[in-house]
Amino acid sequence: MNLHEYQARDILRRYGIPVPEGEVAKTPAEVRTIAEKLARAGASGVVIKAQVHAGGRGKAGGVKLAKSPDEAEAVAAKILGMQIKGLTVHLVLVAPAAEIKTESYVGFIVDRVTQRPVLMVSPAGGIDIEEVAAKTPDKIHQLAIDPRFGLLPHQALAMGFKLYADVAQARAAAEVMQRLYATVYGVGASLVEINPLITNSAGAVVALDAKLVVDDNELDRHEEIAALRDSTAEDPSEVRAREAGLTFIKLEGKVGCCVNGAGLAMATMDLVKFYGGEPANFLDIGGSSNPQKVVAALQIITAEPAVRAILFNIFGGITRCDDVANGIVQATQAFPLKVPIVIRLTGTNEKEAVQILTKAGFQALTDMDEAVKQAVAKSKGGAAA
Ligand code: GDP
Ligand code: MN
Repeated sequence: MNLHEYQARDILRRYGIPVPEGEVAKTPAEVRTIAEKLARAGASGVVIKAQVHAGGRGKAGGVKLAKSPDEAEAVAAKILGMQIKGLTVHLVLVAPAAEIKTESYVGFIVDRVTQRPVLMVSPAGGIDIEEVAAKTPDKIHQLAIDPRFGLLPHQALAMGFKLYADVAQARAAAEVMQRLYATVYGVGASLVEINPLITNSAGAVVALDAKLVVDDNELDRHEEIAALRDSTAEDPSEVRAREAGLTFIKLEGKVGCCVNGAGLAMATMDLVKFYGGEPANFLDIGGSSNPQKVVAALQIITAEPAVRAILFNIFGGITRCDDVANGIVQATQAFPLKVPIVIRLTGTNEKEAVQILTKAGFQALTDMDEAVKQAVAKSKGGAAA
């Protein structure tokens, strides 16, 4: 689950990381009021920042400085409603403008290879960090952390010195890193980034931006974090899928996939690609026997205009093939599929399923390769090879 920057900033602040205050607003008038308040408190200007689940907001024009409340209102009118990477901005963060001397990067990711949280830091932070990583990777320093011991003070300090020659600043950065490490475990994050971590002319080290991705599997034990979900900022099909108890990830292709089990869903997508197609989604209806889930799955898949063919791949174990067949028939009675459908099912109650489907005018296959080939061909507008 993605958090907005303002939510991530609140969490970082709670963990003792220096983050400027700020408030969110939905209208230019609200932005003006906040800017006036900050001006009265002594801020020489404000920064207005689009709150969307996308990186590169600065480059897209979603982060702007304003010297006066008038300007803040005008800038907010431009940012609110703009699109960043296909997402509409409904919310902005207004914070006192920081004065920046240097920009660094500090982040933690979970590394699959070492199976450890990895601390990454770079003195070349800011909006071009991807370019730094690609062109001058020696400017990015990494440390895999042994979770039995955590990030030890001397390790953090060594990483602090990769950012700053000044001892006080290196210590301040080390403190930020240790608190950030505590945040990772505290909220169940799979990724956390501060970019930029700045120094100002007074020499203070401050976090100006925050990105936090929470592992969905951690949400059950972090209710207060789960409550921060902003469904209006997420893809509508993913929201609907979650509500229906489906695991769904939207992709770019034309073959809408409906599969039971995550492993088989991955294998199905691999096979779609192998036969020259592109999956439109990852969809795992789970191991349950519930026609309603199948109806919901078909609703979500058919709502996507890019989908040209639907592929069912069901391996009946706990999932009963007849339940899936009934779901398909119920769905087609409720709404049109609009595109060809290829159904492969095998396993528990396969015979019953084939009967149900045949009676309703569908063909049912048992061979996975054959089904995928047909679906790929249909997604390209042709007949099966
Ligand atoms: P991102 O582009 O989505 O990562 O958004 P950021 O919050 O990181 O902002 C992008 C860039 O805008 C930063 O790297 C800074 O250079 C600049 N910026 C952000 N906030 C401030 C601020 O308060 N003062 C100044 N001077 N620049 C800022
Ligand atoms: Mn940033």
